[in-house]
Amino acid sequence: MGFTNRSALEGVSFHFDNSYARLPERFYSRVAPVRVAAPRLIKVNEELAARLGLDAVALASEEGVEVLAGNRVAQGSEPLAMAYAGHQFGYFVKQLGDGRANLLGEVIGGDGVRYDVQLKGSGRTPFSRNGDGRAALGPVLREYIVSEAMAAMGVPTTRALAAVTTGQTVIRETIQPGAVLTRVAASHLRVGTFQYFFGQGDVEGIRTLADYAIGRHYPEAESATKRYRALLDGVIARQAALVAQWMLLGFVHGVMNTDNTSISGETIDYGPCAFMETYDPRTVFSSIDHQGRYSYSNQPHAMHWNLARLAETLLPLLVQEEGGSDEAGLASAHEALEKFGIQFEAAFYAGMRRKIGLKTERDEDVALIDDLLKRMEANRAEFTLMFRRLCDAAESVEGNAGVRALFADPAAFDAWEMAWRERLSQDAVSGQECAQAMRQVNPMFIPRNHLVEAAIRAAVDRQDFQVFEDLLRVLAKPYDERPELEEYARPARPEEYVSRTFCGT
Ligand code: AMP
Ligand code: MG
Repeated sequence: MGFTNRSALEGVSFHFDNSYARLPERFYSRVAPVRVAAPRLIKVNEELAARLGLDAVALASEEGVEVLAGNRVAQGSEPLAMAYAGHQFGYFVKQLGDGRANLLGEVIGGDGVRYDVQLKGSGRTPFSRNGDGRAALGPVLREYIVSEAMAAMGVPTTRALAAVTTGQTVIRETIQPGAVLTRVAASHLRVGTFQYFFGQGDVEGIRTLADYAIGRHYPEAESATKRYRALLDGVIARQAALVAQWMLLGFVHGVMNTDNTSISGETIDYGPCAFMETYDPRTVFSSIDHQGRYSYSNQPHAMHWNLARLAETLLPLLVQEEGGSDEAGLASAHEALEKFGIQFEAAFYAGMRRKIGLKTERDEDVALIDDLLKRMEANRAEFTLMFRRLCDAAESVEGNAGVRALFADPAAFDAWEMAWRERLSQDAVSGQECAQAMRQVNPMFIPRNHLVEAAIRAAVDRQDFQVFEDLLRVLAKPYDERPELEEYARPARPEEYVSRTFCGT
């Protein structure tokens, strides 16, 4: 008996090493997850567990599920709620913090990277304000599906290690089943974490946090002569690349508040996010985004604004690095921020070149790409299918029927196609080779909103998690041509279309 118990305990061992818990006490609140009534496992992400050196079987065991539900504190875990602030839709909130999340601890993955293991929906904390500290099943499944799809498409993102139901209900617009997501992130440091100390006028806190962020995410800044400027440069570069990846996939984050902007450069907080279908740069899904602040095409601007908020918090450190000159510190921040637009555009057009099959780089490519996007918009072309079917057109001239048909006026495609083929011919790559390369960057399968909704409805209304499982399996290989799964590749029919998604609360 004793032996069995011990091996079970070793089974769920995370080998936690908790660097954040070693930071000063004012960075967080030590609080354990709140127990739930009757936890049941929905899923353990076996592939991710293996990467983190965790035993998926142990996680799925009764004891593992207790840990994933927050009913048991695993060995070595030092649970805490992180303090942070943030601009929400442009308004500064001095204190947000983990109101329904709990950092269990950190593990070192097989890749040598330190990861946060966090429960989301794990009960009230000192940061909960009026919230219940819980998460509903629907948003938990949405975050699981979309974050895993993003990872499979090669986008930096937090990931889903597991999901459980709580056996309790939560009250939202309606009464819903409760759930807890186990989220894994390179860290949960946000622009809002810096803003928390900024809001308190706590420059030493900002410095401690900046040093921590450098050690954890930007070791190259450690040896720079101006380390805080190097940190700012690093975050800006990663966020420029990240937003470019979103744009290249038609992803709309939906709630790009500064508390949802990570320092590590990962996509974080899948609330009202969704993928655009018909190409329209003004696309908004979030039901609370009335001004289109976080619309598809506004995302680079929103990110630049968020990074300016980060620069603001670092200003005292930048001034110091410039020998105490306010002017020079400010100039340093501006210089860093100016690079965002340049880096974003470079990453966006480099990605677009790959999407349309170009191997080499020519100045005229930008005009060719812009022209395609203009025609797609005017002709209401479906974004994901357009690029996927363009691969067939690259393979052979006769292969263009599918993509043509996506344009309200196919002649609008024909005119562009001539210029495109002319440009392709300059790269001297075979059609087959070109198509193959294009299929590596133009996904066939994305988490379309109606598919995500169907998975959620089956789980919530019928306790049927098979639809969720099937969808995960399809999305795990987004770039593989699988004609038998065509149903998953098609856009929503008018009656299936989900135009508004709600905040993931
Ligand atoms: P989000 O919109 O999910 O990024 O969350 C914004 C802020 O609200 C964060 O401080 C969350 O911790 C907090 N929050 C969101 N939902 C809840 C909830 N159900 N209970 C307590 N706090 C919440
Ligand atoms: Mg958030």
